Amino acid sequence: MPAHDAPKQPARIGILAMACALAPTLAAAAPDAAPPAPQAFETCRADLIAWATARAVPQSVADAQLAGLTADPDVLAASGSQGEFVRPIWDYIEASITPSRIAAGQRKLAENAETLSAIEARYGIDRHILVAFWGVESNYGAVLDNPAIVKPVVRSLATLGCGDPARAPYWRDELAAALQILAWNQAPLERMPGGLTGSWAGAMGHTQFMPSVYQRYAVDFDGDGTRDIWTSVPDALASTANYLRAQGWKPGEGWGAEAVLPENFDAALADETTPRSLAAWRALGVSPVPGRPVPDETAEATLILPAGIRGPAFLLRPNFAVILRYNTALAYALTVALLSDRLRGDPGLVRDWPRGDRPLTADERRDIQYRLTARGLPTGGVDGKIGPKTRAALRAFQGAVGLPADGYADAALLDRIRATP
Ligand code: CA
Repeated sequence: MPAHDAPKQPARIGILAMACALAPTLAAAAPDAAPPAPQAFETCRADLIAWATARAVPQSVADAQLAGLTADPDVLAASGSQGEFVRPIWDYIEASITPSRIAAGQRKLAENAETLSAIEARYGIDRHILVAFWGVESNYGAVLDNPAIVKPVVRSLATLGCGDPARAPYWRDELAAALQILAWNQAPLERMPGGLTGSWAGAMGHTQFMPSVYQRYAVDFDGDGTRDIWTSVPDALASTANYLRAQGWKPGEGWGAEAVLPENFDAALADETTPRSLAAWRALGVSPVPGRPVPDETAEATLILPAGIRGPAFLLRPNFAVILRYNTALAYALTVALLSDRLRGDPGLVRDWPRGDRPLTADERRDIQYRLTARGLPTGGVDGKIGPKTRAALRAFQGAVGLPADGYADAALLDRIRATP
């Protein structure tokens, strides 16, 4: 999904991310008030055609692609069933960074070494980050052969474009982009027996580009004249590199590193927004885990505690924010970052996650947001998604009641908020 157009939305919704039931929660915003009912598909179709033709899609193409189309119940189920269970961040990360995923990625690095060297030379994007995106988005393309996962993009986007009215304009714009791709023969359909295909959310190819992202950022890197992110690995990886560079990736800088904290560290310093030089962090007792590649001491990083003071800490360089442009979920971005490290041969995390914690349900997360908001601590919405604003509100609450201000919502904190008048 094009974060450059709508910063609150992820750049893509990965096929695997869908399987992990995390990233799609971003696509299905839980409305605060009773929403208008989704439009019946039969009557909605004319609106879709008008929407598309107003965006330069020829009437004949819109008619031909949408005539006789029905809503896809699987897409509705996928978009409507999210968020009831929110897995802990480490579950998500560890489901994606398995020994087999690491080994397969290292094979892909070897098989595509020449292509990756050429991409690094042209775009300045580190090969391990690119292959990590590839692994997280489509298991290095393996899921693209799975008919249970890969769907016709037009039908998926038409279905979503007639769903939740709050989100429908986004999906309709992506539908119009997909129809433009077809109308203007931008995709190599002769190589695609299933037609224009993607995830249930319309994300396409090895690295899961939404149609509008494909139009703006896909490149023909193998030089055959088409931008083929579906069957050409060089095209798909170079397209991702092109996107990341356009979003501000700084060549030669990593994403950051796990950090070691001192005893009795003031968790409020891990506010994920205040950049400090590495030297300044060291003065506070915070240092990158020894043995990892680190930038010079003047390089700035922010500190984050994704699972609170009892879990691992990370120093994040500006490139981490570029990973979040692909998908705004912190769990997603950390997965890409940590997988890239493992592909490079680095060991896993030094500090373990607080695994004993019971994960909060989406309702409990909404309850926390509601209560914080009522206390004058805005959470950026009551949607059950713990993002930077909710974490900031949590830190403010924790600081006010004398708890370590780590911004982490667990069951004990929920109890505390409920019990605090
Ligand atoms: Ca090509």
